[in-house]
This record gives sequence, structure tokens and C-alpha cells, in this order.
Amino acid sequence: MIYLDNAATTKICEKAVKAMEPYLKEEYGNPSGIYSIGRKTREQVEKVRWTIAKSLNCKPENIFFTSGGTESDNWVLDNGAYLGNHIITSKIEHHAILNKCKQLENEGIKVTYVDVDKNGFVDMEQIKTDYKDGFENPVRTSLVSIMLANNEIGTIEPIRNIAMVAHRKGVLFHTDAVQAFGHIPIDVNYLGVDMLSASSHKFNGPKGVGFLYVRNPKEMMPLIYGGGQEKGKRGGTENVAGIIGMGAAVEDSMRNMSARYNKEKNLRDYMVKRILGEIPNVSLNGHYTNRLPGNASFTFDGINGTSLVVIMDEEGVCISAGSACAASAEKPSHVISALGIPKEKAYGTIRITIGHENTRKEIDYTVEKLKAGVKELRAKS
Ligand code: PLP
Repeated sequence: MIYLDNAATTKICEKAVKAMEPYLKEEYGNPSGIYSIGRKTREQVEKVRWTIAKSLNCKPENIFFTSGGTESDNWVLDNGAYLGNHIITSKIEHHAILNKCKQLENEGIKVTYVDVDKNGFVDMEQIKTDYKDGFENPVRTSLVSIMLANNEIGTIEPIRNIAMVAHRKGVLFHTDAVQAFGHIPIDVNYLGVDMLSASSHKFNGPKGVGFLYVRNPKEMMPLIYGGGQEKGKRGGTENVAGIIGMGAAVEDSMRNMSARYNKEKNLRDYMVKRILGEIPNVSLNGHYTNRLPGNASFTFDGINGTSLVVIMDEEGVCISAGSACAASAEKPSHVISALGIPKEKAYGTIRITIGHENTRKEIDYTVEKLKAGVKELRAKS
């Protein structure tokens, strides 16, 4: 099997598995326990908080463990709805943001969905002007949430500029960095973000665990009320093994980031060149260079992306027709549609996301199978 769907999830690294093992077996102490096996797990959980904080250039008290990207995103939006009644986001966010916004709209919160250009960059004019200050009318903007890098097309947004604009208006800024954390350097102070979501399974850690960075925890309402864990902001006994596995994956990805970045980018550029050069009527979605290293999204004229994914699966290659969470949806991807690609064309989209373990041989095999698959589907249509 050749796995090229690393934006959907990544293979857990050996270091994470090894680090987790004792905490699934003999080290079962509750981190809230004051006896030694409890203190030991507490110490390890806090070590991970410190590791993550160091990687982002913030303090451990700014890191809150969650169950992953969806939970972190939902928490931020609930908090935005608690502090005001207007949220600004973009049309190409993950459904963890968009569907939560829909639910908040049903409760009376106003949401502005900012457009993007053909490369997937958010419209800065809209970002600069769509604020409501609550003076003329009762609507007051409390949050801007724009993703750091898009999960379908890989485009990296100008987060520092957007955060500056939001702050000039006195509004909190959140970024969904689920696809970016562990893959490109992130400094929360340089970027000027107030909140940042990340998820362990996107950077070779275990699934079902992630974190939220919060610059000023006092401004954050609790997500889950319970036993006072996570400084009373998210109750419930910690996912100790998951957190420790995530910590090992953070250490591993920080240590190897630049080598992995270069490897993935070189393989991606090689693959893009071959596909654009050897298959007629295909285009690359997203910005040509300002994108995540492993990401490539293509739209092929005259085919259905899902049928191509099925053909590739029969050939032993895992790719996707959009984001994993929307892979079975009937409608074309909201991200591809937001780029201005017409509906009939948008169905011909596939996403290939390269990981650091992929090889040139695998990419060559994939390109050959893609060429045959596209030819076969076009002949049928
Ligand atoms: N945000 C983005 C940009 C994502 O790509 C994903 C997952 O694909 C999520 C949020 C959801 O993360 P999780 O699977 O950890 O809930």
C-alpha cells in the first residue's frame, strides 16, 4: 500500500507508541492523585505541556489539552459567541469551524464568511471592513477565525497580517493550525494569534488528542465543567497515554521539521511537474509555492474525482477526493467551489498529501497509475 493521504491522518510514529506503552499498562495513576503513581503521570503530562509551549514560543499555562482539532475549534467559537454576537471566518475553513458556525447562527449569532481568491487567500478587504462595533446596532464582533493552512489545497494564509487587523479593531484572533502544526514553524508571538488549534494525529501522534493555545486564559470560558482539570477550563480525567504520545510526536516533528519539509516539498514538486506535464487538461489548486510542503490538489477535466480515488485504491494507492471528513459528500468541495472553479469541473478534484516516509519510487508508481486511471475514466465519459 502507498499512503498519500497524510492530510486526513498520519501514521503514528514509533517514538509515540513507545512513549505511550507504559501509560497504557503499569503507569495507570490518575494525574490528580497525590500518591507517587499519580504524581508520576502528572509530571509527564506537564512535561508535554512544556514541550508544546516551547515549540510555539509561549508558556505552559497557555496550553490546554483537548480531544483534537474539532474540539479546540468548537471551544473557541463557543467562547466567541459568549463574548459577543458576531464572528468573522472564511468560506474555506474545515467543517469543525463551518458546521459549528451554522449551529451558532441557529442560536442568533451573526457569522461573516469571507471570500477567497483563486489561490485560496482570504479577501483582506473584507477582513478589514466587516467589523461590527456594537454602537449603531446591537451587533458586536468578538472573534476572527482564519485557518493557518488549508486542509484541501494547502494554501498558507497571511496570519500575522490578519491578526494585526483583528487586534486593531480590538477583536480576538484564532487560527486553526491543525494542518500546519508540526509541519511548518509556528511562533504564536510572531504571528500574534490569541488562540490556536492543533491535533496530534496530523503530525504522527495518536488520534483523539490535541490542544488549544490560549494567550489569555482568563478570557476563555470553560468548555467542560467537572473535576477542575486543565485549570477548571476542561474537566475530565486527562487522556494520559494520548497526551504523552502527542508529546513524543511533537518532539520528533520539531527535531526533524526542516529535513522533512525539504523532502516532502521536493517529492511534491517532482510529482506536480510530472502530472501537469504528462496528463492533459489538469490544473493545480491553491497557491503554487505558498502552500504546505506535502500538499497537492488537482482538478482533472472530464472525470469524477471519487471514481479516480476508487481506481487508485484498487492499485494500492490511498489518495482522497477532498477532505476525509467530507469524502462521501454529494456536493463538490466547498473549498474548491470557493476558488471559483465551476461545479462540473470541481467534481474532478483529487488531493494527494505526501508524508515524510514516502519515496520517489512511490510517487513514480502513483503518477503512472494516475495517468492510466484518468485515461480510462475519460474514455468512459
Ligand atoms: N481543522 C482542520 C484544518 C483539519 O484538517 C481537521 C481534520 O482534518 C480538523 C480541524 C479536525 O481535527 P480532528 O480530526 O483532530 O478533530
